[in-house]
Formats: sequence, C-alpha cells, structure tokens
Amino acid sequence: MRKPAQQPLKSTTTLVRMIDFGFTLSKSSAVDLGKVDRSLLQKLEAIEPGVRKCMACGSCTATCTAGPWSGMSVRKVILSLERGRDVRSMLSGCMLCGKCTMVCPRGINTRHLILSLCRIYKEEGSL
Ligand code: SF4
Ligand code: SF4
Repeated sequence: MRKPAQQPLKSTTTLVRMIDFGFTLSKSSAVDLGKVDRSLLQKLEAIEPGVRKCMACGSCTATCTAGPWSGMSVRKVILSLERGRDVRSMLSGCMLCGKCTMVCPRGINTRHLILSLCRIYKEEGSL
C-alpha cells in the first residue's frame, strides 16, 4: 500500500499562531566567550590558582548551607566569572561555614576563594 505524501512543515504559520496565544521568542542566551570580560576571573586565578581545577561537579552547591535560601552556589560563581558576569549578589549569601571546601573532590579551598573574591571586589570599590 502506498504511503500518503508528507506535508511540508508550516513553520511560519505555527509561529504566528504561537504569538497569537501570547508566546514570544526569548533572546538567545548564548555567550561568546571570546568577547566577555574575564578580568575578574584572571585576578582571582592569580591569587587562587585552584579555581582552574573546578570541574563544575556541583558538590559544593549541593552541600551549601546558604544555597537553598540565598541562591549561593560556588559552582555558579565560578561559571559566572568565566562568562564575565557579576556575582556580588551571590557572595552576600555566603556564611563562610566552609562545608563546600570539605566536599570539593578537586581539593579547592572554596571558602578562601570566596574571601579572595570579596577582597578583589572591595579593592575595586564595588563591594
Ligand atoms: S565541588 Fe569543587 S570541583 Fe565541584 S563544582 Fe564545586 S568547586 Fe568545582
Ligand atoms: S562557605 Fe559559603 S558557599 Fe561554602 S557551603 Fe558555606 S555558605 Fe555555602
């Protein structure tokens, strides 16, 4: 038995219908790593070279005391610095308890890393 011919996708028509229902297209969140300002991360790397060992496993975030209520995440702090983003709001949630340091499989002194980052911000006059 012969299969019915496939109809071409009507993407434009579908898009118009989505907009009619109140949907919008989000701005792309793609980051051009060649263009972002990584100067803050470079300053941090100079005094905390261990930050380069981070493999973004998330153990620090999973154990963070402040994470559930403040959004603090060492993993996210490091990834955000690589993307040139401001992380001051996250740092303010840290209680410096040191639990993240105890669980880091790469042996990064994450607590000290946070302190160093605060010091850099302070020296820049932005904390
Ligand atoms: S636990 Fe260590 S290696 Fe894992 S994301 Fe945190 S800082 Fe990076
Ligand atoms: S030192 Fe800060 S980031 Fe690390 S577990 Fe404690 S509150 Fe979370």
